[in-house]
Amino acid sequence: MPFAEIVGQARAVEILQRERRTGRVPHAYLFHGPESIGKKRTALALAMALQCRAADEDACGACSDCRNIAAGYHPDVRVTTPEAKTRGAAEKIYIEQIRSLQQEIALRPMAGRQKIFVVDDAHRLVEQAANAFLKTLEEPPDASVLILVTAFPDRLLATIRSRCRPVRFQPLSPESVAAIVSREKGTGAEEATRLARFAYGSVARVLAADYEAMTKRRAQFLEERRRLTEGGPAALFSVSESFTRNSVEATEFLEFLISWERDLMALTLQGPAAALVHGDCAEALTREAESRRVADLLGRLELLVQSLRWLQSNVNARLVIEAALMPLGGETN
Ligand SMILES: [Zn+2]
Repeated sequence: MPFAEIVGQARAVEILQRERRTGRVPHAYLFHGPESIGKKRTALALAMALQCRAADEDACGACSDCRNIAAGYHPDVRVTTPEAKTRGAAEKIYIEQIRSLQQEIALRPMAGRQKIFVVDDAHRLVEQAANAFLKTLEEPPDASVLILVTAFPDRLLATIRSRCRPVRFQPLSPESVAAIVSREKGTGAEEATRLARFAYGSVARVLAADYEAMTKRRAQFLEERRRLTEGGPAALFSVSESFTRNSVEATEFLEFLISWERDLMALTLQGPAAALVHGDCAEALTREAESRRVADLLGRLELLVQSLRWLQSNVNARLVIEAALMPLGGETN
């Protein structure tokens, strides 16, 4: 995947290209931004551009270096990912993995021009591993580039963060997601656009599911939302509890609520001409929008967006979810 195949990250790619062209590639990068928007893919594109002997503006994508990187077995490009020590355990990056990275980084490049190490989900470094890794960042061997990839930079040691050049990745627009979906799944443009709207910017989500599964999921979220608005404090308690146990679902639910409130806002401000994420629910949305005031919608949207940020930065999930959902429970009063 040369840079040309990275969709929707023009700014990040431009920075990386410029640094490569001018010979100013730092020893360590920190690629950060929401999950599943192309950070790791871009890290591999950079690895390709750095290793490819035919690279000009971009990697050629066809030489043995490029092909080996794409296939995942280039001897000088290595990706470290979190592992579970036992089945079902949380995935972490352990000290053994960092030690083996350190042994490798000390060697000279075998086939390429330098050694490139991608550490995916770097916020999952256990403490001991993070401290060991810091040593490598403090004294990086020549001809080596480390690329840390994470959606949660706040969870990294500040001392690690400060030694990396940060590159921020943007959430993907629905158009970008649709372009990726139709490329990866061979879906027609119309279907890809429908799927993309449901993805809230996450490509993995849309590639993993199909339209039917996503519609089902939304129906479930709508039902939870209805319970919240009609069920009072008891519903707030049980819905919050069910989402507290699963932060992935909680994130998805908040993203769904944000998209729904945005649609309500769009309808209130622009009327029937508004472009909706949940266009197939226009009737229900229009009914709901009639009784809502812009100031309330705005307040709720801000709270939801803030809650999503809190959820991603390790604040107690239960508190965040309750705070985010509370105003829904008060709606019918
Ligand atoms: Zn090449």
